[in-house]
Amino acid sequence: MTAALTVSGLVAGYGRIEALHGIDIELQPGRLVALVGANGAGKTTLLRTISGLIRARAGQVELLGDDITHAAPEKRVRAGLAQVLEGRQVFGPLSVQDNLRLGAYTQRTDVAGQIDAMYALFPVLKEKRLLAAGTLSGGQQQMLAMARALMSRPKVLLLDEPSMGLAPLLVREVFNVIERLKAQGIPILLVEQNAHAALSIADHGYVLETGRIALSGPARALLQDERVKAAYLGL
Ligand code: ATP
Repeated sequence: MTAALTVSGLVAGYGRIEALHGIDIELQPGRLVALVGANGAGKTTLLRTISGLIRARAGQVELLGDDITHAAPEKRVRAGLAQVLEGRQVFGPLSVQDNLRLGAYTQRTDVAGQIDAMYALFPVLKEKRLLAAGTLSGGQQQMLAMARALMSRPKVLLLDEPSMGLAPLLVREVFNVIERLKAQGIPILLVEQNAHAALSIADHGYVLETGRIALSGPARALLQDERVKAAYLGL
């Protein structure tokens, strides 16, 4: 079976700093993979290199078997890769509805139907559809950022720290949504500092330490791993 996403030997950095030293990860169809690690480990750099916002210095990124290592970011979006950036980047002055419409810029067919599907998945967004996105709470903006990414009907979804800055109750809500997306069969690479929450819903996990994969395995096994417990689960 062709993997949804394959990253091999990926090297990337900023100027003279190398932040990723050769990363190998694989996301199988329909799976939820968690990438956890401390502040500064390189999680955001990895996601941004996969989505093409940062240039790969070596290695390869394959989307559904196609080499996209050097493709422009918008070409990757058209090929089915969607990323929700860290920090809920919604267009504050625009309405919820218009934010969703913008998410459909790569496709012209049945935008209204897709918006309805998003309202079914995120009922709160339907209630607030005419309000400026900037007036939504942090959790609602996170939902909107995810819904907007889903408007492009992605084949692979990259999520960067969706729980960041959210109150515990909202964290649970956001993770519930991620589980529902997984149930719909969308392969997801979830980057999280909240290692416990992420590994609890993931199939497989990777632990990133200073630009290298330090550990990987079934998410359930990582939750039980003494090193993971000590370093990332606060146990
Ligand atoms: P966080 O959870 O804080 O986002 P992270 O695991 O996502 O952490 P990155 O943001 O990918 O880590 O950072 C990886 C390394 O690259 C760190 O050493 C960081 O200092 C460095 N770095 C990140 N962004 C830049 C930049 N724009 N310029 C120079 N160095 C950077």
